[in-house]
Amino acid sequence: MNLLNAIRTLLFPLRANCMGCGAATGCREDWICPACREALTQGWVGASPPPEGFDAAAFAYVYHGAAVGIVAQLKYRGVTRLAGFMGADMARAYRFIEPTGADCVTCVPMHPKRRVRRGYNHAELLARELSARVEIPFVELLERVRDTPQQAKLEDDARRANVSGAFRALDAARGRRVLLVDDVCTTGSTATACARALRAAGAETVYLVCYARARG
Ligand SMILES: [Zn+2]
Repeated sequence: MNLLNAIRTLLFPLRANCMGCGAATGCREDWICPACREALTQGWVGASPPPEGFDAAAFAYVYHGAAVGIVAQLKYRGVTRLAGFMGADMARAYRFIEPTGADCVTCVPMHPKRRVRRGYNHAELLARELSARVEIPFVELLERVRDTPQQAKLEDDARRANVSGAFRALDAARGRRVLLVDDVCTTGSTATACARALRAAGAETVYLVCYARARG
């Protein structure tokens, strides 16, 4: 073993863990174990009835099992390289609602305070990966004008109240055909609040693509 390989092994141990379930996969290239890959395949969604406010929507997976683990790794553990894999799956889901004629990709924004604390907006990472793959430019069109408690901790009615008026779209949204990106669609209240803001600013059509959709 030469010195370079020795250093590589030291820096990047061969026992990686599955991003879906945490099991040791044993090889640094394997980011997901065979069982999780199979579970993901089973949970494929594609086109789906859109939440209120959207012209069409597509989702890569049901928010269940491995998909939950993968989202958590991206969102809370800082495993930002997952955005590439996730974006590829979202691009595949997007094909089901083509041709949309979308002329820009944007994302659910994070409040600046939260963005600074986390260091990145996971929805933006996904939106940029999707944007590159479907060859539609990424544009920032939304801002979060109110810091809101995390949706994950709230019940349905509280979620709607929580995000109502939390977003504002920039004037640049006028006349645009927007593809909105988020990680997970649970009740759809966050996405719908974003769609309303975009339409209020004059967006012509609004589409939604998320990595995962909760079972209704
Ligand atoms: Zn696994």
